[in-house]
Amino acid sequence: MVQPLTMMAVRDRQEWLAIINSITPELRQKLAPIMGEHAEACIARFYQVLLANPDAAQFISMEAIRDRLHNALTDWLIYLFPSSEPDVDKLIALQQHIGLVHARMRIPMRLILQGVRALKDEIRIHLFDTQMPRDQLLIALTYTAAMIDFAIEVMGQEFAKDLAREIESDEACRLVSLGQDIAVEKETQRASLLDWGHKLLLAICCAHPPPYPPLEKSGFGLWLNHKASLLFSGKAGLSAVKAIMRKIDRELLPDLEAVYPVAPAKIQEFQESLEEIRFLMDDMFAENALLEGGRDPLTATLSRRFLAAILSREISQALRRQIPFCVLLLDVDHFKLINDQFGHAHGDTVLRTVSDVITEVCRPSDFIFRYGGEEFLLTLVETELKEGLAIAERIRNAMLNHPKLREDRVTVSIGVTMFDRHPDYEHLIQQADAALYEAKRQGRNRCVSYQEQS
Ligand code: GH3
Ligand code: MG
Ligand code: MG
Repeated sequence: MVQPLTMMAVRDRQEWLAIINSITPELRQKLAPIMGEHAEACIARFYQVLLANPDAAQFISMEAIRDRLHNALTDWLIYLFPSSEPDVDKLIALQQHIGLVHARMRIPMRLILQGVRALKDEIRIHLFDTQMPRDQLLIALTYTAAMIDFAIEVMGQEFAKDLAREIESDEACRLVSLGQDIAVEKETQRASLLDWGHKLLLAICCAHPPPYPPLEKSGFGLWLNHKASLLFSGKAGLSAVKAIMRKIDRELLPDLEAVYPVAPAKIQEFQESLEEIRFLMDDMFAENALLEGGRDPLTATLSRRFLAAILSREISQALRRQIPFCVLLLDVDHFKLINDQFGHAHGDTVLRTVSDVITEVCRPSDFIFRYGGEEFLLTLVETELKEGLAIAERIRNAMLNHPKLREDRVTVSIGVTMFDRHPDYEHLIQQADAALYEAKRQGRNRCVSYQEQS
């Protein structure tokens, strides 16, 4: 899509044209095969430097780079140095796209600039190796450096814009309750923690053989790791609760498992830790009780504007902790007909019921967004593909079995995908969308996974 040029873009365009026209067509023709031959080595050097930095590991995984980005950036470098005059508008659009992709992966600009320094160094080495006359070599060195610097500058602008958008939406995320209702959320999580503690004590009393399930994998633990940080971001209480949870799972549970009968002092220590979590949670909930909103008014699911922030967070958590998660895209089948047959108001009621059914099937730690008119996007945390597909099937069947929906013959199609370590969340949405498209194509009222589609 061609967008109107801003003042900045007009200036970029003129400046870039001046750089492009600073060399002769002959030199351009000479440079293209040199860059083509060494592009791969240059990009390898770029990523080598990027990954040598320990800070980079948390943003990007080795395999994500090897599999996805290396080829794309090699093409980028070749594209910067074609044998005929490059199209400046296409160049600008490409840099903006790459800038956006890297911003979505949350790679800090500082790291990229470090890599670019190494990349330019590598280019210099290869240019020196050619038998170019000295005066031509000087022009070629200046030209390649200027082209790359300018490309990075255009990328950087996009990067900064995206960052500003993300900060805004992260901020918005913090300011809203991501639970159904803050009071309900509080009670649900309180009960979930209590339930886990009771079951554990019961297991101990009944001499049930270990291992006992860790708190981190309980409903409360999942909620704490994935949602609580959105509600209580930056609060000291949250890190304290997480530290207690770690202590319970790594120290107290193994202690309780090790000796039978369990010493009363150990049980007391365990009870006190749970009590401390409850106390800290109550405090944080009390502070947050007033903050609500940010939901789609019709269905009370999350508003789409939080999608980027939440998916990015889940991706970086999945990369860091090596855990899976699934994204589901659900679309009501032939919804237009429902509107046409029963009227728009009835259509609205159907949408509300559909979202209620989804919420009932999903766990409190999952995220449900209204993605479009009659489309919902679901993020199922810590979920493998097989499980994700099973949940999708459960949702689809729940629609068929719901008395009101059954009356109106409402069915849904669902596209399922599992996070494949690609650091860009748009990629994940595209996969879910492709699977949904396939489900529609195969006749609707079905679930299709991206990874297993025929
Ligand atoms: P398909 O099975 O291919 O998805 O067919 P469809 O009819 O569901 O898809 P289509 O995209 O053609 O139509 C979606 C309809 O959803 C059109 C739009 O009027 C309706 N819609 C979107 N948002 C709302 C809403 O908030 N309330 C109501 N009642 N209808 C809505
Ligand atoms: Mg649709
Ligand atoms: Mg539809």
